[in-house]
Amino acid sequence: MSELSPNRVRRLEPSAVILWEVRLSQTGYSAKKGSGWHTTLHTSPSQRTINFCDSVLRMKIILAAPRGFCAGVNMAITSLDLTLERFGPPVYVYHEIVHNQYVVNSFRDRGAVFVEQIDEVPEGSVLLFSAHGVSPEVRQAAKARNLNAIDATCPLVTKVHLEAIKYAKAGYTIILIGHDGHDEVIGTMGEAPEAILLVEDEDGVDTLEVADESKLAYLTQTTLSVDDANRIITRLRKRFPGIASPPKDDICYATQNRQEAVRILSDDADTVVVVGSQNSSNSQRLKELAAESGQKAFLIDSPDDLDQADFSKGDTVLLTAGASAPESLVQETITWLVDLFDATVEVKQIREESVQFPLPKSLRVLNN
Ligand code: SF4
Repeated sequence: MSELSPNRVRRLEPSAVILWEVRLSQTGYSAKKGSGWHTTLHTSPSQRTINFCDSVLRMKIILAAPRGFCAGVNMAITSLDLTLERFGPPVYVYHEIVHNQYVVNSFRDRGAVFVEQIDEVPEGSVLLFSAHGVSPEVRQAAKARNLNAIDATCPLVTKVHLEAIKYAKAGYTIILIGHDGHDEVIGTMGEAPEAILLVEDEDGVDTLEVADESKLAYLTQTTLSVDDANRIITRLRKRFPGIASPPKDDICYATQNRQEAVRILSDDADTVVVVGSQNSSNSQRLKELAAESGQKAFLIDSPDDLDQADFSKGDTVLLTAGASAPESLVQETITWLVDLFDATVEVKQIREESVQFPLPKSLRVLNN
């Protein structure tokens, strides 16, 4: 064993982690698993047979990068953090600040109160709008209630709102590609309810009824599957060749990068684990993407949701996280896999991210 440690075998030939026997001869190291498979790995002057057993098997974690928090989530979380610090509890938040149970529960413990209706907020209170954005009607209701409203809407969601306003003012009918009932979709549709039609899938394109096809534009929710959105857009363009669209994609950089990483890296994995909550749209899309590529895929809030029986030591696991999932939960998941399967970790960086968004203006003033 001293001349040929398991680590050295792995370095010479990655697939050697599944070998059961290595032989050193005058001409080289040979290795085989069961019968039939045989290859020379390296030269050596001595001859020796080394038997490997299960302890040689180690799980490999491919840790996707980028993963986890995006710039919008960072900004929204920092905003709530600062608001609680400056104003003290209770601070009211319209909808979940971001779609992650751990984050929401942590803030709840510190005195944040998450509401679904503005009339749940006592008059004169401090209220934060979540990263997903709100409709003008909600802003108006907050004003009428004399609330101190702080807007933590992600600027990339605001961009879609502004596009909706622009097209609606110009007399266009807007086809919004998105998921019915999602906070972001509700907020965007609220900008011009009479001008926006929601389409959730390709079939929805066929049943659209549009008064003036020459004045038609499409927008998308920021956290869609890039592939699904492209299929719907292709169908829209086929049916309405003149349909207008914004110059820059509405699906945000963070959604695209995390999906790209799963698309590229999942081929090398047996299983894909996505850290994120069930109500997180971009996390769900990551899990779906992995499942579409034929991988076993799990979307988990934390390692407590994993079952040991779904993994074995020889597995390669791709680990990633949705845009609202904290890195601490990724690290807990790594610890769980290391403890149970002696996993090694390899980070694979697909893209660099350096996007940052400023805090809401009202908080920047307080912060100075
Ligand atoms: S996922 Fe994209 S749109 Fe949503 S908060 Fe993050 S950066 Fe903004």
